[in-house]
Amino acid sequence: MAVKQWETVKYCFCEHVKKEVGFEAEVIYPADHIPDEPRILAHRCSLGFQCNLDGRASCKWAGTNPAYDPFAVSE
Ligand code: SF4
Repeated sequence: MAVKQWETVKYCFCEHVKKEVGFEAEVIYPADHIPDEPRILAHRCSLGFQCNLDGRASCKWAGTNPAYDPFAVSE
């Protein structure tokens, strides 16, 4: 059976919330008998949902400012 799970792939300090947050990837691992590589289905910020609801423009991962990506800036 395939396994699908969210994994944190990097961290950065976010000025919007003034704390460290995680950049997460949804990864699907194929069943043992299928010779395939794990695949990434989606990405999200660990606080993206909360930022989306706080009423301020923040970043692309909150869906409120597509021009700003704190994880890209921190590289
Ligand atoms: S959604 Fe964007 S603004 Fe909010 S904590 Fe994550 S990186 Fe920061």
